[in-house]
Amino acid sequence: MQKEKRYYPYSKYLFETFGTKVYKITLDGGFNCPNRDGTISSGGCIFCDEVGSYSRCASDNLSVAQQIKSSIEHLSAQFKAKKFIAYFQSFSNTYANLEKLQKTYDEAFCDDRIVGISIGTRPDCVDDNKLDLIKTYKNPWIEYGLQSANDETLKLINRGHDYECFKNAVIETKKRGIKVCAHIILGFENETKEMMLNTAKKLAELNIDGIKIHMLTVLADSPLYKKYSQKPFYLMDMEQYCEIVCDILELLPKTTTIQRIAGTGFSETTIAPKWVNRRFEILNMIDKIMVQRNSYQGEKYSP
Ligand code: SF4
Repeated sequence: MQKEKRYYPYSKYLFETFGTKVYKITLDGGFNCPNRDGTISSGGCIFCDEVGSYSRCASDNLSVAQQIKSSIEHLSAQFKAKKFIAYFQSFSNTYANLEKLQKTYDEAFCDDRIVGISIGTRPDCVDDNKLDLIKTYKNPWIEYGLQSANDETLKLINRGHDYECFKNAVIETKKRGIKVCAHIILGFENETKEMMLNTAKKLAELNIDGIKIHMLTVLADSPLYKKYSQKPFYLMDMEQYCEIVCDILELLPKTTTIQRIAGTGFSETTIAPKWVNRRFEILNMIDKIMVQRNSYQGEKYSP
């Protein structure tokens, strides 16, 4: 039996919503990203590697329906899983015309056991028509990459959009009843702890529905690796990262689902820091710090 967390894990939210454990199926919808194909820039975000940033889903050129079928077979056999969320993860999964988007998302509901959809994308890659389409699906979520609410940082990391763009996308998305998860990264070279906490405060102001927190990681084949190999820069250690994660948890509303605070790890492409792949140690340290502080998610949140 898992010990009760001092924060609100996404898995708990799913259990409360669907009455059973729900598994996320990672999908490759065959989309690209405008920050990599030359539309915004050709270099992409500095931390992004050739598979589209912290995402690995080996689609083996399978169609969305085939990917769903194979994942359901596997998860049902291994975990007796009964309900699933279709998760479009790699690159920008709203970067196409409406027709292609509808066809791709429709395909994700090829099995009745798919109970919701989660779409990872950039905040500058949605518009009214796309959001109006997404809101028609069962239990829709959009996951927006933000990384930092500091515009100077966004320029440095070559995001190609500013905080205002993210904020407007979140407001338009939530207005339609679509839930929003934000992705942020801790540990950019220029960022102080206060700047990282400021990002969390801005997300709290937006009453964000979910968050994924990553430690800045130098991945092979990323522009950041080029920079790092020429002149290695300081990267936080595990304890510093966990302390800041706990500060962030305290600042967020109690209702924000915590979808990721420790990576699943792809050690073969991680150049630094290597500790990011020690998932259970990170989770345990976060639990320990929250206990030491006798603190909970939302403790310092003020609406
Ligand atoms: S928006 Fe995502 S996929 Fe595109 S370059 Fe940035 S991290 Fe990579």
